[in-house]
Amino acid sequence: FFITLEGGEGTGKSTQARKLVARFEAQGLRAIATREPGGSPNAEILRDILLSGVIKPLGPLAEALMFSAARIDHLDQVIKPALAAGTTVVSDRFADSTRVYQGVAGNLDPHRLTLLEQAVLNGTVPDLTLVLDLAPETGLARAAARRANIDSGDGPDRFESEDLTYHRRLREAFRALPKREPGRCLLIDADASADIVTERLWTAIQQRLLH
Ligand code: C5P
Repeated sequence: FFITLEGGEGTGKSTQARKLVARFEAQGLRAIATREPGGSPNAEILRDILLSGVIKPLGPLAEALMFSAARIDHLDQVIKPALAAGTTVVSDRFADSTRVYQGVAGNLDPHRLTLLEQAVLNGTVPDLTLVLDLAPETGLARAAARRANIDSGDGPDRFESEDLTYHRRLREAFRALPKREPGRCLLIDADASADIVTERLWTAIQQRLLH
């Protein structure tokens, strides 16, 4: 199965990706956790370029193309080979992040974005997209605490902003995904402990995929 986790900053996507892989493995099923932007050696280099600030802000279409180039490499090098081998892939972010960040936040024309997404995915669509929903105040506090506690080498990046209005807009864009595609996307309340959120996600995976 190809499962993607989406949501704003500090909603727990990377933690949950790891915990879900452990759940699959406990069932005797092969699974890997991966992430975007990144996930393959070349895509991780593109991630560094995009997030580190070495490159000046691009327009939304150029930015979407950079994320898309990374996504194509991630698909070719990691996701498609794993799926072909029968391994479940759990990705922390995927194409819906481009819809939200470059599309809604960046005001990229939805028609061009759809064409681009179709060209990039070329049929490799997630079986299930779990959207972690959390008030931005809580998510930003979690993200700040994470940065203070562990040096993940990962942020704050040039996309991060403390502007609550911006993060509320992102949250609404993430919440719109399951409304638009209820067959693929499911909203999950992420305002709980990591273990409880894992339970919610695992229940959804069992109901949607493992029945
Ligand atoms: O999830 P993570 O924090 O690793 O994402 C890195 C950053 O990349 C986020 O701050 C997000 O704002 C940004 N991003 C983006 N467009 C995407 C995916 C991520 O601007 N398509």
